[in-house]
Amino acid sequence: GGCGATQSSLMRARMRLSLQERLWEFYQTRVNIPAEEQAMARRAALDICAELRVFLHAKLPDMPLREMYLSGSLYDDLQVVTADHAQLMVPLILEKNLWSSIPGEDTIMNVPGFWLVRRENLEYFPRSSSYWDRCMVGGYLSPKSVLEVFEKLVAGSINWPAIGSVLDYVIRPVVPSETLTLEVQYEMDRKLYVDFLPLLVMEDGTSLIAKPHRLSAERNENLWRQSFRVAETARLRALDQEDGGCRCTCLKVAKAVCKLSPALHRLNSSQLTNTILLLSEKEGDWTQEALADRFLQLLRALVGHLEAGRLPCALSPKVNLFCELTEQEVDELGYTLYCALSDPEGLLRT
Ligand code: GDP
Repeated sequence: GGCGATQSSLMRARMRLSLQERLWEFYQTRVNIPAEEQAMARRAALDICAELRVFLHAKLPDMPLREMYLSGSLYDDLQVVTADHAQLMVPLILEKNLWSSIPGEDTIMNVPGFWLVRRENLEYFPRSSSYWDRCMVGGYLSPKSVLEVFEKLVAGSINWPAIGSVLDYVIRPVVPSETLTLEVQYEMDRKLYVDFLPLLVMEDGTSLIAKPHRLSAERNENLWRQSFRVAETARLRALDQEDGGCRCTCLKVAKAVCKLSPALHRLNSSQLTNTILLLSEKEGDWTQEALADRFLQLLRALVGHLEAGRLPCALSPKVNLFCELTEQEVDELGYTLYCALSDPEGLLRT
């Protein structure tokens, strides 16, 4: 009938579109999240954050924390497809003279980008001098043990059904989860996942987060992950602001492609952001008209880094942002992207 005819003429119209046009269409229809949806998700996250602050202040007044805050792509206008996740940052306060950080490359694990946090001066300041001594394992502050403290609280002693009914959300801790996550249903068909992310800000400004190393977890259990997110996001945005560039758009398109195609799930925003930052060092034309060219170049660069098994962090080149992928994952990602080079539009048909 008429509908079929319309559909097929629409199809024909679509086939005439260039990659450039297809990318912008994809951006408008699939990638970008309506402002109203983002606002609702932010509101839900904020309500929960406020409840948790009240609860923690009342229940554990002497736990040395700075104020918790929300962060992540939802707050940087870099979230894509659906407004469905945020991080709740929980900054711990450490006594300067009692804890020191050791870079991963100076440890037997030899992993740049990860750190150990060692307890110092135990002879003068015995165990229990620091609140966080309860999370000490083998002389080091254990991110896993810190997460467990919050897990007990959040999954054990907070009455989420009661709080949820006051706020008109359905809230439940996600178990099991690698990190500590709350699932918040804030509309009939809308869910938001809020990750607890304990955080240490060291004296030199280094941010370390309690997010475990993906591989050989046992051996790496005490490692804190250095976070470059704030700096790399700021750099990307600053570059776009200088030249009215399309780097953020390119990033969002790539993030959406990875979110929508299961074969690319393993690529995260940090890897994509850094690949674009590295590309920006060599390539000057990021005008809106160059989106398709830069997108293809991004794919090619990723294939190259995957072939090398190495993606240096733009802010700290000794850090390999592929170090948590297995060889097989590297091969599969490389293969998928290599194939996509000859049919990039296939990536948008998910
Ligand atoms: P998206 O989740 O792909 O949209 O990307 P984000 O840019 O929001 O990054 C969130 C991811 O980065 C989560 O997996 C976090 O665990 C991790 N991450 C690392 N450092 C930080 C940080 O400083 N803040 C936040 N919010 N997330 C961080």
